[in-house]
Amino acid sequence: MEHRVIPVCVREGYNVVIGGGLLRESGPLIRAALGERRIAVVTDSHVEKIYLAPLMESLTQAGYDASPFVFSAGEQNKRMHTVADMLEFFAAVGLTRKDCVLALGGGVTGDMAGFAAGCYLRGIDYVQLPTTLLAAVDSSVGGKTAVDLSAGKNLAGLFHQPSMVLCDTECFATLPPDEFANGAAEAIKTGILDDESLFSLFESGDVLRNIGEIVAQCAAFKAHVVEEDERETGLRKTLNLGHTAGHAIELCSGYTIPHGHAVAIGLAIISRAAERLGWAEEPVAARITRTLRQNGLPTTTEFSPEELANAALLDKKRAGGTLTLVVPRRIGSCDLMDVAVERLPEIFRAGMEADA
Ligand code: ADP
Ligand code: ZN
Repeated sequence: MEHRVIPVCVREGYNVVIGGGLLRESGPLIRAALGERRIAVVTDSHVEKIYLAPLMESLTQAGYDASPFVFSAGEQNKRMHTVADMLEFFAAVGLTRKDCVLALGGGVTGDMAGFAAGCYLRGIDYVQLPTTLLAAVDSSVGGKTAVDLSAGKNLAGLFHQPSMVLCDTECFATLPPDEFANGAAEAIKTGILDDESLFSLFESGDVLRNIGEIVAQCAAFKAHVVEEDERETGLRKTLNLGHTAGHAIELCSGYTIPHGHAVAIGLAIISRAAERLGWAEEPVAARITRTLRQNGLPTTTEFSPEELANAALLDKKRAGGTLTLVVPRRIGSCDLMDVAVERLPEIFRAGMEADA
C-alpha cells in the first residue's frame, strides 16, 4: 500500500504519513524516523481492545521496548489526574529525555499524551497515531495539547509539536457512524476554508474510497496554517470557522452534542448569516447545509440566538469588545472579520431564520 507523506515545516519539522494498514507498519516507520528509543504507548480502554495488540507486535518486531499505559475511555477522564498518572508511569518505566511517547487513539488520547510528553522532563518527543477521523484531520497535527478543567474544556495545555503523525485510514472502519461524522464535519470545514475540490468529495464523491486523499488534503492545509502561525495569532484563527456558534452549542447542551456535530450546526449558521448579511460573494448556505446533512450531520438547533450569543461570549477566545468571526466568502475561501460583541445575537439570528 502506498503512503502519502505530508511534511510539516515547523521547528525541527515532522511528517504526517497517511495510508491503509499503517498501524502494522508503525515499528519500522518509527525506527526509520526516530531510531532507537524506549516507547510509552498511551491509549484508552476502548482503543486498547481493538488496536493495542497489533501495534505492540509491530513495535516489538522492530526491536522496540514498549510499555502500554491504558486509561479509562471518555472525555470525563481528560483531566490533570490522568496526566499525573501518565507522568508517574513514564518515570516508573524509566523513560529518559531521549525516549518517546506514542499516542494511540482519538483526540482525548492525543491531547493528553501530548501534554504529558510536553512536561515530562521538560519535554520529550511524542508520536501521534490518530484512530478517529476527527483526530486525523484536525487535532493530531499542529501541536496543541490540553486537558479540561472544572471551569471549562481545554483550559490547561501547551504547544508541543509531535515528531511524527501516523494516520492508518483502516482504523476508521471500526468508528461508530456518529464518530465518523464528527471528523467529516472538520474535513468539510477545511473544504469551505481552503479547497472546493475537497468540499466536493463530500458533496458528490465516495467519501470512504477517497479517505486517504481527504486526510492528506486536511493535513496539508493544517500544515500550511501551522507553518505560518504556530501559536494562533492570525491565520490559524481561520480554523475556527463554524466554531463560535459550535462551541456555544456544545456549552448550552452541557457537552451532550459532540464537537463535530456542534461545528456542523455552526458552519450552517455562519454560512446562512454570511449569505443574508451580504458578506458572501455567492450563495453558499444551501450547498453547505445539503452536504453536511448528506454526511450524517445536523444543521439546526433548538437553542435561541440569544442563548448561543451569551454562551459564545463566555468562551475563552473573546478579546475585549470585539470578536473575530471566520466568514465564508465562497466555498474554498474565507476571511477573518472583527465584529462588535453586541452584534452577535443579530448575526446568529440571521443564520438561524428558516433553514437554508
Ligand atoms: P475525538 O476527540 O477524536 O472524537 P475521542 O478520543 O474522544 O476522539 O474518542 C471518541 C471515542 O471513540 C472514544 O470512546 C474512543 O475510545 C473511541 N475510538 C477511538 N478510535 C476508535 C476506533 N478507531 N474505533 C472505535 N472506537 C474508537
Ligand atoms: Zn474543531
